[in-house]
Amino acid sequence: MEMYNLAPVMPGAHTLPPLPYPYNDLEPVIDAKTMEIHHDKLHKGIVDALNKAELALVEVRKQGNYDFIKYWENEIAFLGSGHILHSVFWTNMAHAAGGESPGEYLTNQINQYFGSFSAFKAQFLAATKSVEGSGWGVLGYHPAFRHLEILQCEKFQNLTQWGIIPILVCDVWEHAYFLKYYQAMDQYVDAWWGLINWEDVKKRLIEAMEAKLPLF
Ligand code: FE
Repeated sequence: MEMYNLAPVMPGAHTLPPLPYPYNDLEPVIDAKTMEIHHDKLHKGIVDALNKAELALVEVRKQGNYDFIKYWENEIAFLGSGHILHSVFWTNMAHAAGGESPGEYLTNQINQYFGSFSAFKAQFLAATKSVEGSGWGVLGYHPAFRHLEILQCEKFQNLTQWGIIPILVCDVWEHAYFLKYYQAMDQYVDAWWGLINWEDVKKRLIEAMEAKLPLF
């Protein structure tokens, strides 16, 4: 098991993780232009704005002036969640993984909680496709409950379960699919399913299961 860097990410020090493959690697499911804009412009913009918000809050604390605290708290919730979910999203996909199975370990974990892999898949796809407006379908591991859960996330700063660790996420904001799929988000989600890098999902699950949260 690799060692983790436990040093805190200081205010303003977030960085954009590089895409782990070329822009065109997920074609024809996701086109290169969408990947380039999504990663280089949108995710980069989120990281830059998150850094700016954290640095602004350093100044707010220094001045002791909390007049605009609601604005900045909303910014770090929105941008921090966006940064985390996009970072998971990039590594969740791999062209080479298309059509592969999740493997025995992950399948057992999924079966244990959801009853069967097909039931898990049906719930994940249904939840993701019925996101109202912009949002995400999320499979997460909850250290407090010690089980997997599927969440439907409309606004990624809202409607979470505190402490859950996302291990498989599907971006259903229009920017993730509109150039190729237009309004047909459900077709994008179905095609996206074939891109899943199950090795990455398994690695993230094992890491999440090692996280320590107090039970209640
Ligand atoms: Fe996105």
